Amino acid sequence: MHEFSLMTGVLDAVEISARENNASKITEVKLVIGAMSEVLEEAMDFAFEALSPGTLAEGARLTMTKVSPKSRCLACGEEFEHDRLHFACPRCDSLATQLIAGKEMYIESMEIET
Ligand SMILES: [Zn+2]
Repeated sequence: MHEFSLMTGVLDAVEISARENNASKITEVKLVIGAMSEVLEEAMDFAFEALSPGTLAEGARLTMTKVSPKSRCLACGEEFEHDRLHFACPRCDSLATQLIAGKEMYIESMEIET
């Protein structure tokens, strides 16, 4: 479960930035998860429940937003969103496309109490 190591990184990052902002508590953490990232939301929830006690994020709400993959067509330059299975360019039907977004996982924002 690589979600545990991802969540460890998330908690480290939010805790550092919460302390820099003199927060006494983190109330919400918002993550963005690319549909191609292989990150399972349920596993992230589980990791959060397991790892957050004792940190500033204990009891915080974890919100995850899934973003669609996006590719660029190498034939015509079109950029388009698609699902996990369909990669063909909607403009020219080319299958020569390059994934430019959708594998990422990052912290979008967080809410704190001071
Ligand atoms: Zn194209």
